[in-house]
Amino acid sequence: MAPLSEYNQQQKDAILMVRQHLSHLPESELCWLKKRIKSYLKFRKTVASFQDQHFADICSQKCFTSQTSACCGREGIITFFADVVINALLSTTKGIDTLLEVLERDRGGFNCVYLNESGCLWRFKPIVCEMFLCDHAKNSVLNDNESLASQWAGLRRRERMYTWPTRPVLFDQLEVFFLNAGFDSPLMYLHKSPGLLRLKAKHGLR
Ligand code: SF4
Ligand code: SF4
Repeated sequence: MAPLSEYNQQQKDAILMVRQHLSHLPESELCWLKKRIKSYLKFRKTVASFQDQHFADICSQKCFTSQTSACCGREGIITFFADVVINALLSTTKGIDTLLEVLERDRGGFNCVYLNESGCLWRFKPIVCEMFLCDHAKNSVLNDNESLASQWAGLRRRERMYTWPTRPVLFDQLEVFFLNAGFDSPLMYLHKSPGLLRLKAKHGLR
């Protein structure tokens, strides 16, 4: 069998290590993690309903009916380690097995490895996917509507409160939780990306 692509291998390794660690955690620590992501889940719910309310029509018109969505291209998204952790916390064992299976069976193509006929296989898709709007969608919906444009800008600012390490943020803390337990992954961008490391240093974070 051909080896996995680097992208798929990194995804697989991260999913496996997260599953392994979570399965050995005492209930109290699992509860702590679930509590820790609560406000982020609330934020994601708000984004999802904003997208549903204002973008469902344009997306269905432009992409889903023609099945030409630019949203889910092959290896087109960055998956943060925290995305993997949060998804695992919310998934069943079968849901995680399905992700691992598609990574193993992947034979190429133009679409994201996680996309199937009924949509994204993640129980809780990565933040980059949630926040992506193509220019066509943005221009059609936000350009002539100041109120919506400002609501979207507000959501982008809220996103940064979880992901952008100019202060201690959830995505960084979830990486630390696993690093402290001896795990490591190239998807830990808040500890690997030179740009994000510089940003953290500039704000007195390590
Ligand atoms: S955001 Fe753009 S590319 Fe993605 S589904 Fe909507 S219209 Fe299509
Ligand atoms: S992870 Fe899901 S939402 Fe994101 S690009 Fe892949 S199929 Fe699309």
